[in-house]
Amino acid sequence: MTLDLSTIESLDELGAIAAGCAACDLAQGRTNVVFGAGSKDADVLIVGEAPGQQEDEMGLPFVGRSGQLLIKLLGEIELQREDVYIANVVKCRPPGNRDPRPDEIDACKRYLKRQIEIIDPTVVITLGNFSTKLLLVTTTGITRMRGRAYEWWGRFLVPTFHPAAALRGGERVANDIRADLAIVRNIIDGSLEYIDEH
Ligand code: URA
Repeated sequence: MTLDLSTIESLDELGAIAAGCAACDLAQGRTNVVFGAGSKDADVLIVGEAPGQQEDEMGLPFVGRSGQLLIKLLGEIELQREDVYIANVVKCRPPGNRDPRPDEIDACKRYLKRQIEIIDPTVVITLGNFSTKLLLVTTTGITRMRGRAYEWWGRFLVPTFHPAAALRGGERVANDIRADLAIVRNIIDGSLEYIDEH
């Protein structure tokens, strides 16, 4: 029987449960479960895709090249790594950095759901297609979804490109991420003009 996570009240307890998770095949190849990291009462929760090699080795999200770019772009809206909470759709590294499979996302999504409930952020930022499609329950790609805030479960959700796309696609993609992060800054500052009903 699967443990009901809705009764788990703390991130530490939830992380300890995730550390022993064997709900999908990714458990076999992992070095560490990358549960998430950051401020436990963050206003901003960021959701990536899946840990890469460095994240798997260190047990921390976004510590590789994508992470460095993410932290730089967050710094431009005056948010430091310690101010936000960073998590992923799946908590274990897919072999060879392949895309997470639907069954793996399905098995893992209850951890993300409970992380969001416990942290209770004002804004959720989804990075790339996997987190955006999962949380907004859409098949529409990130290029069409980004550029606005959505009202989502009593909070705001701002989808943007994954920083890995900016590492490949250069300054144009990075500038689109900057524009989306400006929406986040406005929401935190209390200016709500960007909201689009979802
Ligand atoms: N890419 C992600 O989506 N998440 C990480 O933690 C690192 C890279």
